[in-house]
Amino acid sequence: MAKDAPTIDYRSLLDQERSELLSELAELGFADGKTGLDYDPNFADSSQVTAERGEAEALAVKLRATLGEVEAAIDRLDRGAYGLCEVCGTTIEAARLEAKPAARLCITCAARS
Ligand SMILES: [Zn+2]
Repeated sequence: MAKDAPTIDYRSLLDQERSELLSELAELGFADGKTGLDYDPNFADSSQVTAERGEAEALAVKLRATLGEVEAAIDRLDRGAYGLCEVCGTTIEAARLEAKPAARLCITCAARS
């Protein structure tokens, strides 16, 4: 299959981002299948532990959301729908995908949402 321009290997970029997110989640104690951090129940009422747990959970929520976007992008690659805006169906600019491989929207729709 001839190609006009060298294409970026988005799958590698996404796979790399995915494994980074997974290891960050694992470091926080939110590895696959785990819903929370393991704390000694004896210290469960300590306000410091509560605060730390809250921070870790907030971060984990963000990481999970990003992971979800990355996995959705990998899924679109598998389905051959990668790089198309989910709203208007236009081709997302290559520069945008390069900067954010998990982008779901073209720049116009992203600005609108
Ligand atoms: Zn769009």
